[in-house]
Amino acid sequence: MTNTAQRWVMTSTAEPLMAESFELPSPQAGETVVEVAGCGVCHTDLGFYYDGVRLKHPLPLALGHEISGRIVAAAADVKAEIGSAVIIPAVIPCGVCDLCKRGRFVICSQQKMPGNDIHGGFATHICVPAYGLCPVDEQRLARAGLDLADVAVVADAVTTPYQAVVRSGLGEGDVAIVIGVGGVGGYCAQIAHALGASVIAIDVDQAKLDVISDHGAALCLNSRELDFPALKQAIRGFVKDNGLRSGEWIIFECSGTAAGQQTAFGLLTFGSTLCVVGFTLDKIEVRLSNLMAFDARVLGNWGCEPGHYPAALNLVLDGKIQLLPFVEQRPLREINEVFAAVHSGGIKRRVILVPEQ
Ligand SMILES: [Zn+2]
Ligand SMILES: [Zn+2]
Repeated sequence: MTNTAQRWVMTSTAEPLMAESFELPSPQAGETVVEVAGCGVCHTDLGFYYDGVRLKHPLPLALGHEISGRIVAAAADVKAEIGSAVIIPAVIPCGVCDLCKRGRFVICSQQKMPGNDIHGGFATHICVPAYGLCPVDEQRLARAGLDLADVAVVADAVTTPYQAVVRSGLGEGDVAIVIGVGGVGGYCAQIAHALGASVIAIDVDQAKLDVISDHGAALCLNSRELDFPALKQAIRGFVKDNGLRSGEWIIFECSGTAAGQQTAFGLLTFGSTLCVVGFTLDKIEVRLSNLMAFDARVLGNWGCEPGHYPAALNLVLDGKIQLLPFVEQRPLREINEVFAAVHSGGIKRRVILVPEQ
């Protein structure tokens, strides 16, 4: 291992991301150093960079929290095989506080998010807590036709909806409605399908609907073409024609838009569960009493606890979640062009930035 490394740091919202060299730290107690194989570009990164969403760590800071790589160093107290492949959780809980002891890992107040609390994965190397690292079986990875960089998106884009699906209690025979089938929602639809639900996908982007119709969605509805009553009628008709449940729909709001949230709330029916997976600062007006009248519930979801990562990765390695139609690899040195293109909507797939090795 060389002891110099490189990362691309944000210095302000006005300046391009800049490459800087840094000396590889020796891992402190509980830490590992991971050589980055790939790091996904998430809308959260764009929010920090373009919209001035506040970072917890002062600038300059390397962004990026969807990271896969190989352990190249570990503190003496860490049991880790040097050279082994891992996925770094997007949010790393401390594992020892009262919240963690009670299983509330994702709201651990000591949690570390790479690219927010600590330097992130748009780098050749990253120093992270070893807690919660998800091992990757490289033989299964190869059999699935994937490389280590591809599974970077498991940290966040795949695991966030995975936790939402698990929490919803979704199982065989359920009707799942996924609103927004982009980066996160596309995986949400695949996960719900893999776990036995009939999946209805709703989006404003026909191209995204066309992709997901080949990957688990039984019905795709374009909400740019259908107004809300027509949308609801189409769902009712589909459910009836296929002998599916007329209630208890499990609705995943993954668009992170006010319009998507309005649609999601409007689709609540008896016994429904609404999972809020996407984020927006916008507000919507709803009649909250519908929850009471329908005996329905709304669940929030922040990230995913590390304990769910191996099961989510299994779905990927078993081919039940397809990654390749949804991702594209680009060299890390193109980070500024990639950020601009993702921001302007010029790249539809999730970009995974890969450092030159
Ligand atoms: Zn993210
Ligand atoms: Zn904790």
